[in-house]
Amino acid sequence: MTRFLIEIPHEASKTSCMRELDAYLQAGAHYLTNAEWGCLANDHRAWLTVDVSNEIEARMLVPPVARHKAAVRRYDLNANPSTQTIASFKKSLGPGQEAGAGILPTL
Ligand SMILES: [Zn+2]
Repeated sequence: MTRFLIEIPHEASKTSCMRELDAYLQAGAHYLTNAEWGCLANDHRAWLTVDVSNEIEARMLVPPVARHKAAVRRYDLNANPSTQTIASFKKSLGPGQEAGAGILPTL
């Protein structure tokens, strides 16, 4: 299983927020209970993290009405990475990917 971060934007209006929430509710309560919403901070996006086999499978979990605008990204680190996790991740990047190359923050 691979972890993916799904980001789904919507227009910045109360009508759009309500329409988006209704779409997620119709798709299943799972989306409402597992999605993070930025609307109250005037950041009109929803985020989901899912553990699936590939990007296509991750995209298929997005409610159909929002699927075309979803950004699906592989998510390689845990939300609270340990030093060991970061070291393993850096090693998996291979040579030439030193810290500060713009991928990882410098510790
Ligand atoms: Zn919103």
